[in-house]
Amino acid sequence: MLKVYNTLSRSKEEFRPQEENTVRMYVCGPTVYDYPHIGNARSFAVFDTIRRYLEYKGYRVYFVTNFTDIDDKMINRAKEEGITVADLASKFIAEYRIIADQLNLKPASINPRATEHIDDIVEMVELIVKNGKGYAVDGDVYFDVSAWKDYGVLSRISTEDLTAGARVEVDEKKQDPRDFALWKAKKPGEPSWDSPWGKGRPGWHAECSVMGKHYLGLPFDIHGGGQDLIFPHHENEIAQSAAAYGIKTPVKYWLHNGFLTLNAEKMSKSEGGFSTAREVLDNYDPQAVRLYLVSGQYRQPLDYSEKVLKQAIQSLERIKNAADTLRGRITILERKGSRESKADTKLSEAVNKLREGLQKEMDDDFNTPGALAEVFTFIREINTHTKDVGGAAVLRESLAALIELVGILGINLTLEETVASAESGDLLKDAIELLLELREDARKAKDYSVADKIRDRLGELGVTVSDTKDGSTWKMS
Ligand code: AMP
Ligand code: ZN
Repeated sequence: MLKVYNTLSRSKEEFRPQEENTVRMYVCGPTVYDYPHIGNARSFAVFDTIRRYLEYKGYRVYFVTNFTDIDDKMINRAKEEGITVADLASKFIAEYRIIADQLNLKPASINPRATEHIDDIVEMVELIVKNGKGYAVDGDVYFDVSAWKDYGVLSRISTEDLTAGARVEVDEKKQDPRDFALWKAKKPGEPSWDSPWGKGRPGWHAECSVMGKHYLGLPFDIHGGGQDLIFPHHENEIAQSAAAYGIKTPVKYWLHNGFLTLNAEKMSKSEGGFSTAREVLDNYDPQAVRLYLVSGQYRQPLDYSEKVLKQAIQSLERIKNAADTLRGRITILERKGSRESKADTKLSEAVNKLREGLQKEMDDDFNTPGALAEVFTFIREINTHTKDVGGAAVLRESLAALIELVGILGINLTLEETVASAESGDLLKDAIELLLELREDARKAKDYSVADKIRDRLGELGVTVSDTKDGSTWKMS
């Protein structure tokens, strides 16, 4: 039974989607004004892993993740670069797609953009005003927090905390400092759209309420994003959707990933001191980067350093080597023919343990470090038993399980398969030739016991050596 930590209840809850076998999930995507940093990449990788696990469990997952392509940051950056907001968005959406590919993110069911949903946004804001939960001032429209008694339900931030901690923008147009903009009047030089309040653009939070409803219907099952989005973004999203559409809550489970930190500080674009995802992916094997990003439990902070990336490289190597070990032995047994042995049962048991263990860990709020520990336990079993396994069937089963289960974490072991198996085929051939050369040396030195040992041991491995007058030949039996 899958349990997920719901930020709304601050507890682990049994996961029951509203429609059996189907999960509808929405994850806040990037604001496309700059290169995504490696912290953003953590959020992408975490929710991709969650999605893959839900699919592994047999759910059909509708996965929506947006591009925020209009906000203050977009407008300011476009001005700085002397290009349009639309061109800025295209540039960084293209960049996101490259990174998504390198990180092996499954394509979303859809990547909607805020600017494609302006009509829906205007409609929602009109409903909020009509329902007495919003008010217009000089072309701006604000959400009236005082008219929404559940405000704070997600973030658990009280009115006092909000005003005392100055976590809200003070603006003389607002009736209450906690109120937030649903619609912003056009300023000179800014992109704008028509609305009942004059030309303007959406406030920051409106798009996700609208696009979640548009593509998934309300309420939907999972809403994800980083912990920085709990307040104000997701708090405001709940207020907007509930006030506009007359529902108690737009989302059943709220999931938030912890920060990727640099010396224990949240990595962020505005604070500087961050690495772009591209820099990291250019310098390290993208699969190792992906492994690193999911190596910690998703709600905990994950520190970034060269040391941890190097550890991920080693872990990836161990996983790939295990797959190659299995492939190599399968090749030998395919040539030689199978004969079952005790080791077959041992490995078969290890496969079952891996599947059970990994599921147990992932069912516990997607505990990826626990899942990885199960993978490494299995790899130790592979390394212990494979050489003694006589049946190819169990090796194929082990390889399939390894590929499938690390696949949930986004590691693709079939990527280099053709290259690896061709290489291991060549390597095997070269190694046999080398042994025959050594046997020839031994014979010349009249060390017949070594020469015979090489021939006999090769024979046991399925390589028949024949001595002819032109030298030794070999074939796989
Ligand atoms: P943004 O482009 O800033 O809207 O962020 C895209 C996603 O990355 C959001 O879900 C953020 O919550 C998440 N995010 C931003 N900074 C970090 C960080 N340092 N660690 C993990 N996730 C982050
Ligand atoms: Zn959002």
